Amino acid sequence: MGGLTKPFGWTGARVPVIGQGTWHMGESRRRGEREAAALRLGLDLGLTHIDTAEMYGRGGAEEVVAAAIRGRRRSDLFLVSKVLPENASYHGTIRAAEQSLRRLQTDYLDLYLLHWRGRYPLAETMAAMETLVAGGKIRFIGVSNFDVAGVREAMAALARERLACNQVLYHLGSRGIELELIPFCQRERIAVVGYTPYGNFPQRRWTVPFSRRDCPPHDVLREIGCDHGGTARQVCLAFLTRNPGVFAIPKASDPAHVRENAGAAALELTPAEIEAIDAAFPTPPHPVPLEMG
Ligand code: NAP
Repeated sequence: MGGLTKPFGWTGARVPVIGQGTWHMGESRRRGEREAAALRLGLDLGLTHIDTAEMYGRGGAEEVVAAAIRGRRRSDLFLVSKVLPENASYHGTIRAAEQSLRRLQTDYLDLYLLHWRGRYPLAETMAAMETLVAGGKIRFIGVSNFDVAGVREAMAALARERLACNQVLYHLGSRGIELELIPFCQRERIAVVGYTPYGNFPQRRWTVPFSRRDCPPHDVLREIGCDHGGTARQVCLAFLTRNPGVFAIPKASDPAHVRENAGAAALELTPAEIEAIDAAFPTPPHPVPLEMG
């Protein structure tokens, strides 16, 4: 179910609409096996797009991913990692990618992102990314936390390759990217991967029973979920991934959460339901600066 895929921008790759995040994984050895087991369950349910970064757990998350993917056919996975801005010089980027590959115990990344913009000129980072593509170490190049102007610059900084992805904050309380960034990326056929899909809403607001009317916007999600035999969170993920070229990467280390997230891929919203969610969680009235998580 979770394996429902769609085209990843211009790349020709088809990637699961719902992927798996790994922020805060690999921070403690004690929790590592449970986290790897959650990722493995996600893989079994078709969530084969795994997002990690050298930053997460200072490399620990990449080691958890390595444990999770051991024994899997590499070509069945879409593995993503990121270089920290402080490492994103030409040589630093290449070194960081090689270290990520070593921790992940794999030969290549499907996608490598600049985590956010830092002090090194984009041209330098992008040149290193192109060297990594030429050497077969990464398939596609992307950025993260870039607004439209930044994406344009990153595109222009690439001499031989084409920008494949921009990973940005996207949840029901932060829909500003729908005004300009998503339409721009769709025109350029650059995939948009939304992170932190559950936003900062307190847990209570997702789970209070139907009869309690103290948080109306979430009632909309729950009611729609009920009509589909699903949950508020599944409706949230279905809404965020309703447009072509837009993906979500919830992070879950609890197996019940993984199952719930995987189930969202099969949930198709009607135009009336999309309208109701849109009214309950409106986009800002005019463009706003890109938000970061
Ligand atoms: P998130 O996925 O929106 O939320 C994660 C939290 O939600 C965890 O506490 C998780 O709990 C819980 N959760 C997940 N599924 C649930 C479910 N079905 N029911 C109840 N709770 C559930 O936030 P995120 O981790 O910030 O974002 C997702 C991923 O995006 C990250 O892990 C990372 O890979 C990426 N990211 C990228 C950037 C960037 O700058 N590029 C920034 C932030 C995040 P359990 O773990 O206990 O299951």
